[in-house]
Amino acid sequence: MRRPSLLAVAAPVILVLAAAFAASQDTWPVHDPNRPQPRIVAPGPAGPPVPAPADAVVLFDGKDLGQWTDAKGQPARWKVENVHMEVVAKAGGIRTVRGFGDCQLHVEWMAPEPAKGKDQDRGNSGVFLMDTYEVQILDCYGSATYADGMTAALYGQHPPLVNACRPPGEWQTYDIVFRRPRFDADGKVLAPARMTVLHNGLLVHECAVLTGPTAHKARPPYKMHPDRLPISLQDHGHPVRFRNIWLRELE
Ligand code: MG
Repeated sequence: MRRPSLLAVAAPVILVLAAAFAASQDTWPVHDPNRPQPRIVAPGPAGPPVPAPADAVVLFDGKDLGQWTDAKGQPARWKVENVHMEVVAKAGGIRTVRGFGDCQLHVEWMAPEPAKGKDQDRGNSGVFLMDTYEVQILDCYGSATYADGMTAALYGQHPPLVNACRPPGEWQTYDIVFRRPRFDADGKVLAPARMTVLHNGLLVHECAVLTGPTAHKARPPYKMHPDRLPISLQDHGHPVRFRNIWLRELE
């Protein structure tokens, strides 16, 4: 009888270890300071705005906030100048007039220069899909915070695969592919929300499964919501800038 190859013996062990490793990625407590920091990868220099494709819904082209309101449905009060908009502290977050579900979203943003503050208090804003699921915006260029709250983290749940930050004062891009959660008529989750994200062109999430809404110091369960909800941008009190925001609705 032939002896089994080393690979045949080792493969089941490797599979078990791989599964345990994958599971451990999801079992870190929220905002655990011991969760490993993603490695830093310089993304290369910023480019010009990425043109919106023919089937895109343009949400911000640098001219006005006509596609946006504040949280109460009143005109958005963020500053618009030189083809960008800027968070006005205490004006509150802004959200799109229209609601969206599954989509491919392109956002360009810039952290304030000179940088001020540290940890979560440094160039903080955020992009919320369906006003509920946040891709964190933060200045983590030479500045650390808990891994699940850093730049491009799915806040409180998934750290990015790498830290692809550009320095403050330079334009950065997020390209987000979002699949909304599916609920049955009773609100039972049939499929969780998923996100694939590129930060400055680098893959930082690949089909990451959300545990529910993103939240501070909590991982709340899903709550049934409509199939379409606004995209929102966070006012965290820091003058973060945005330009060139567009979206493609997915089938
Ligand atoms: Mg934020």
